[in-house]
Amino acid sequence: MSELKRFFVQNIGEEILLDGEEFEHAKNVLRLGVGDEVILLDNSGVEYTAVIAKCEKKSMLLNLLGKKQGEREAATKMALAFGYLKNADKNEFIVQKAVELGVAKIVAFSSEFSSAYMNENKLERLNKVSKEAAKQCLRSVAPTVEYAPTLAAALEELGSYKNKLFACEFASESEVDVSALDGSTAVFVGSEGGFSKGEAALAREKGFSSVTLGKRILRAETAAIALTAVVAFSLGELGEVKR
Ligand code: SAH
Repeated sequence: MSELKRFFVQNIGEEILLDGEEFEHAKNVLRLGVGDEVILLDNSGVEYTAVIAKCEKKSMLLNLLGKKQGEREAATKMALAFGYLKNADKNEFIVQKAVELGVAKIVAFSSEFSSAYMNENKLERLNKVSKEAAKQCLRSVAPTVEYAPTLAAALEELGSYKNKLFACEFASESEVDVSALDGSTAVFVGSEGGFSKGEAALAREKGFSSVTLGKRILRAETAAIALTAVVAFSLGELGEVKR
């Protein structure tokens, strides 16, 4: 059986209005109509089943059938902060893959050696990518993508995580064992320009531990996904081993 189609909406009640882009997608791309069942998400972690009751030109009306807690969110909170890249596709790639890997929060930051420019449209686009990825991998929560204008602001934003990791391309060894993590974990990965020594020092001052990803210099997007995947695995988020 194929999965029910999923849509993010603002307000859930007994009757739900679907309009805007989600409506267009439901009607024109998925060709859904009266009587079809769907899953509605409001980013609270709850999955609502609903049936399309009325379909009009610019919106459709749905009736609520039931609700249950989504079961696919990570048990342990993970966050990814990445240096905002010049190439829009690469930023989107990072967001998409991080969502699939289960992160709860994403921060794109500007730093000393990054020259990419963020604006509201680009941030909105990244949040849309997050939603699409969340739907595709059957999550009930789409992590918000935030922008931090400086590394310092991003470090501050994720300062409350238990494990704070900083992928440092000039570190020769890791200060923590990333294969045996326990508890909420935030990771930082630099942009194509990398981090300055001063930024690495600032991260240390803020309680972040350097980790190396080995002797090769990975592209920023490879590093972001590789480290997120290692962390997810370490926290048991990439499946259990049969014993
Ligand atoms: N331009 C830089 C490289 C930047 S790589 C240089 O020439 O040195 C982009 C980011 O990926 C880095 O800031 C770091 O966070 C991460 N990264 C890449 N390779 C890494 C490695 N071997 N160890 C740790 N982090 C790495």
